[in-house]
Amino acid sequence: MAGDHVIIMPAVKANAYGHGVIMACKALEEAGASVLAVGNIDEAIHVRKAGVKCRIVIFASNLVKEVADLYVKYDLTPTVMYDFQAKAISDAATAAGKKIGVYVKMETGRGRLGINSEEAPAMIREIAQYPGITVDGLYSHFAYAGWDESKRDYPNWQYERFTKALDEIESYGIHIPFTQLVNTPGGIVYQDMRLTGMCPGRGIWGYSPVEIREGEHLKDGCPDLKSAMTAWKSRLLIVKETTGGKFGENYAACRLEKPLRIGIVAAGVSDGIGRGRAKGYVLIHGKKAPVCVSMSLEHMTVDLTDIPEAQAGDEVVIMGKQGEEEITREQLMKLWGQVIPYFWTAIPEHVERVYYEGETPVAVARGYDIEML
Ligand SMILES: *Cc1c(COP(=O)(O)O)cnc(C)c1O
Repeated sequence: MAGDHVIIMPAVKANAYGHGVIMACKALEEAGASVLAVGNIDEAIHVRKAGVKCRIVIFASNLVKEVADLYVKYDLTPTVMYDFQAKAISDAATAAGKKIGVYVKMETGRGRLGINSEEAPAMIREIAQYPGITVDGLYSHFAYAGWDESKRDYPNWQYERFTKALDEIESYGIHIPFTQLVNTPGGIVYQDMRLTGMCPGRGIWGYSPVEIREGEHLKDGCPDLKSAMTAWKSRLLIVKETTGGKFGENYAACRLEKPLRIGIVAAGVSDGIGRGRAKGYVLIHGKKAPVCVSMSLEHMTVDLTDIPEAQAGDEVVIMGKQGEEEITREQLMKLWGQVIPYFWTAIPEHVERVYYEGETPVAVARGYDIEML
């Protein structure tokens, strides 16, 4: 979609939106990404140590000056919003006999990070003279991007602020190779607002906030994105008959009206299962097993009355296909009242990520530790 002339900087913050930052960055680099944007310097260092060679930009989420040496040591690209940050990087780079590229974050209307676009050109003119740095990127972030034409004034205004600043910077004889305003929805809907770069996050993982289906078909201009996360699984820890009715109100995590054949699944709220009362079902032996009591931190209790063949150790599908049945991401998000970034990032790092090439598992991630299979 981006064409040959737009540089794609995938946003891999928040552990690659929950997908595991190391393997995600390796795959993106292999797919041709020349620049990746991570959420913090800790992630960046781990990605670099894992052998990723391409440019790694750190979003504007840490104090740059205090860790200037780390940017230089690991050859990382800081986002600067202040003159003193650029100077600190330049000093550290010069001391190490290096030159470091920096990106500038500009605030154009999201009301969050960045130097106001009206002040950016003067700062960039200043910092471009520091001997240890080059200004390689300028980026901003949309507040709204979507199909609604009645809301188009706002992104237009952001774009105008961006390009006005850019013109002024160019008039000083400074050329910045990477300039970017569009994120996933902006990149899809406002093709005319792509500058030399785009920074998709959600789209990389197979989610478009601006997807519209017309029956079986996608609306014109909507890319056919496939979810990178295909399944979420656990196992049964124990299968047993409970004696119902004997628990007092204050004691029972599980208050059953009658004896019931239950299974306990190794997945609870602390593993990313949506909060709230028991709702929905999981899949065991290709059948629906209702979640029958309220959530606990590490477990889910499921009703196995209709699945007599279930045994301890059996696979439990929380999301994905099993036999003829399927639980989709959209169903879970609706049930748990979550929007997509929460759904992905609620699954903590201790939950193993297994990576596939086709049908073949090739790696397992446990936090930053990768086991190649
Ligand atoms: C996270 C992030 C993006 C990606 O946003 P999506 O809407 O997920 O594509 C782009 N730009 C910046 C500055 C970000 O922090």
